Amino acid sequence: MRRSLIVGNWKLHCTVVEAIALANSIRLAVGDPGSREVVIAPPFTAIYAVRGVICGTPIGLAAQDAHWEERGAFTGAVSPGLLHDVGCRYAILGHSERREHFAETDAAVARKLRAALAAGLSPILCVGERTAERDQGRAQTVVSRQLATALAGVAPETLPMVAIAYEPVWAIGTGIAAGTDDAAAMADHIRGRLAAGWGDAAGRARILYGGSVNPGNAGDFLRQDTLDGALVGGASLNADSFAAIVKAAP
Ligand code: PEP
Repeated sequence: MRRSLIVGNWKLHCTVVEAIALANSIRLAVGDPGSREVVIAPPFTAIYAVRGVICGTPIGLAAQDAHWEERGAFTGAVSPGLLHDVGCRYAILGHSERREHFAETDAAVARKLRAALAAGLSPILCVGERTAERDQGRAQTVVSRQLATALAGVAPETLPMVAIAYEPVWAIGTGIAAGTDDAAAMADHIRGRLAAGWGDAAGRARILYGGSVNPGNAGDFLRQDTLDGALVGGASLNADSFAAIVKAAP
């Protein structure tokens, strides 16, 4: 019922020339993804050029962030409408690197999410606990709070446009992925919170896992019934690795 969604987050990597080359390699390596949905998130500066490479292919485009205002005196910000205009259909929001390095709060993520939806972008909402929070047994509490704040006011009919990426902070870029049981348990928890707030619509929202996914462990995550895909950082910068992760999805 829910299509697998594999998202490559290129973070702060790739000049325009490098991005074109990587997108082209991914296009060739992925080939026909079948029913799987494949999305890449280049840096802002390369989005338009990458669009030219993947135009007419099943690969979609995401932004790595989006501001909450559409226009105005917001130097340095990029709005959801401008991202939609340049070809993005998704926006990664609330990534832990933005929360950590740019002091992004739950409230700011909520504003961004509503603005993204209003502009026709599908948010990929990142949630996840830090090491200390997990050690204190507060992982589910933290994720519940992040979800409740970010999704407040979202209508049930709109909820399925949002994909939730469970990304434990300690697993991102560390090479230490979460255990598949722990990831599946958190996905169940997330689905439960969605069901409590949005009823049947919860069954149509996708839940992804992110954090040191690679070709060797991707199948373990993607075979979990409760997980609908992956948000991939480092391994998405290599076309063969990313394509292998895509192919590991059902
Ligand atoms: C990410 O950037 O969201 C991520 C999960 O990174 P990595 O796969 O490198 O851990």
